[in-house]
Amino acid sequence: INATFTPYYNAAGQIEGVIVVLQDITEQKKLDDMRKEFVANVSHELRTPLTTVKSYTETLMDGAMEDKEIAMEFLGIIDSEADRMAFLVRDLLQLSRFDNKQVCLDICAIEMNDFLALTVKQNKIHAEAKRQELTFEPYEKPVIIHADRDRLGQVVNNIVTNAMKYSLEQASIKIYITEDETYYKISVKDTGMGIAREDLPRIFERFYRVDKARSRAMGGTGLGLAIAKEIMEGHGGRLSAESEYGKGTTMTMWFPKKFTTQPYTEV
Ligand code: ADP
Repeated sequence: INATFTPYYNAAGQIEGVIVVLQDITEQKKLDDMRKEFVANVSHELRTPLTTVKSYTETLMDGAMEDKEIAMEFLGIIDSEADRMAFLVRDLLQLSRFDNKQVCLDICAIEMNDFLALTVKQNKIHAEAKRQELTFEPYEKPVIIHADRDRLGQVVNNIVTNAMKYSLEQASIKIYITEDETYYKISVKDTGMGIAREDLPRIFERFYRVDKARSRAMGGTGLGLAIAKEIMEGHGGRLSAESEYGKGTTMTMWFPKKFTTQPYTEV
C-alpha cells in the first residue's frame, strides 16, 4: 500500500485536517516483478549460448584450429548456439509484436480435416524417427474455421512438436476434433511424460519450463506456448491443457464458430 498525506488549511492558515490517499499497488508491484523477472530471463537465456560461443572460439584461437576434426566439431557447436540465439530473438520479437498489438492476421476460411491431415503428413517422419505413432482422426463433417494460415500452422506445429518432444519412444499422439455450441476444439493427446498438477497452470508463462535443462537441450526457447496462447487469443479463441503426470497430456485449441472482428490491426 502506498500512502500520501496532504494537510489542508482553514482561512486563518491553520491546519484543519489531513487528506490521506491510500493506493493499493499490489497489482502494479506484481507487474513490475514480472517485468524484472522477464528481463532477467532474457539476459540469462542470451548469456548462456554466448558464453559457449566465446569459450569455443577462444579454444580454437589457442590452437585447436590445427586439428581439423576438432575444429569442425567446435564450429558445429558455435553454429548451433548461434541458431539458438537467433530463435530466441525471433520468438521475443514475435511476442513483443503481440504486446504492442502490431499483429495483423490474414484471416481466411480453412477446412481443418484437410489442414490436420497435411500437418500429420509433414510431421510423420519426425514421429517415425522416435517410433511414435502420430495419427489424425478425421471429423464426421467438414470443419471450417477462420484463421491466419501461417499462424495456425505455427500453433498446431508447436503443440504437435511438444507432444513428440515430451514423449518417449513408442508413444502415441492422436489429433482429433470435437465441438460444442460455440467452439470447434482441436485436441492433441499424447501418452508422454505428463505435467504435474502444480506446473500445469504455469506452462503458458513466458520462459516457464518444467525441466529447464532438458527443454533447453531439446532446442526449446520456453516461449512456444506463450506465443501459441497469444495467437489463439488473437483469433478470439483460447488454448487449454489437461495432464496427468506420468500418463500424458492433452492440449486443446478452441476456435470460435462465429468469427466476428479481427482483434488486432497493424499500427
Ligand atoms: P519449450 O521450448 O521448453 O518446449 P514451450 O513453451 O513450448 O517451451 O513449453 C513449455 C513447457 O511446457 C515445456 O518446457 C514442457 O516442460 C511443458 N510441456 C509442453 N508440452 C508438453 C507435453 N505435451 N508434455 C509434457 N510437457 C509439456
